[in-house]
Amino acid sequence: MRHRRRLGGPVTLELAAHQRCLDAGRLKVRTRLMPTVAGLHSVRGTDDDGIDLGLDLGLTTGLGDDHLRIGAMKIWLDGSLIARTAAMTQDYACRCNPDHPAGYLQDDADTMRRQILAAIAGGWDIAAHAIGDAAVDFALDVFEEAASSGTQTGRRPRHRIEHAGITSDSQITRMARLDVTPVPQMRFLREFGDDMATSMGPERAKLLYRHKSFLDAGLRVPGSSDRPVAEGAPLLAMATMQDRLSESGVVLGPDERVDAVTALRAYTVDAAWIARDEDRRGALTPGRLADLVVLDTDISRAAPEDVAATTVLATVLDGLATHDTGIGLPVAPPPA
Ligand SMILES: [Zn+2]
Repeated sequence: MRHRRRLGGPVTLELAAHQRCLDAGRLKVRTRLMPTVAGLHSVRGTDDDGIDLGLDLGLTTGLGDDHLRIGAMKIWLDGSLIARTAAMTQDYACRCNPDHPAGYLQDDADTMRRQILAAIAGGWDIAAHAIGDAAVDFALDVFEEAASSGTQTGRRPRHRIEHAGITSDSQITRMARLDVTPVPQMRFLREFGDDMATSMGPERAKLLYRHKSFLDAGLRVPGSSDRPVAEGAPLLAMATMQDRLSESGVVLGPDERVDAVTALRAYTVDAAWIARDEDRRGALTPGRLADLVVLDTDISRAAPEDVAATTVLATVLDGLATHDTGIGLPVAPPPA
């Protein structure tokens, strides 16, 4: 494994005096810099192998190093709201999928159940792709079965419901009880929210990609994009966490809006936690990796439109700039 540069303390950067955003040429890391990481990439097996859980290889969540590491195992349980294939407890309001008016599960329910239980027994954290509320119920049933049957052994799991597109209050309570983390993609509200609201109808539209209700139940809400389905830029998603504005200007679920600091926490502290990276990333403190970005706006205080318009002035990996618009940071050598 490669040695990674870590932050020493105190963490401050000397910056060129001409930087327009800076006060007196010196920047406090705590308020103006943030690390980012892209997680949950696909790891494909060969076509001949089918689904390979890797149980006999020691291949499981956590294997790798600080540049490339295996995260949770994603298992698809249902489809999407965009295609009206997410598995719902009630029919879609739009009546636009006559063959499957309430969507459907991706595979035979018992096959998926056994896959998840086998992966949990092998030490994996599970990212259960569940968008419709029926798929969320299914995922929680299996997680509960694993917890109560002794299938889970060793370290405490960090299972997640990937997307959690439609969730009821009782499902949120159950997630909190089972210690299962929702990972919703708030940028969907801007890019697809109008269409999703139409397919759900006005009552259920309030339950789309909830945020504050998760937090109020004591759950973490890690920031996530589902790139390339939606824009991957964290700043755009953080803006949507605050305003929840659809493309047509409708606020989808106004009670689910959160403030700027909460949005920042989602994409830093809580995103690092769900990836088991909290001792390496998520906050700029001595001992964590020297990976960060420099922004031209204090996004912990900015209005959503200013967060979305924020410019990344520099990106730092291992303490060296991989992108620098003129700050003058030490530069990383070009890739060999
Ligand atoms: Zn997914």
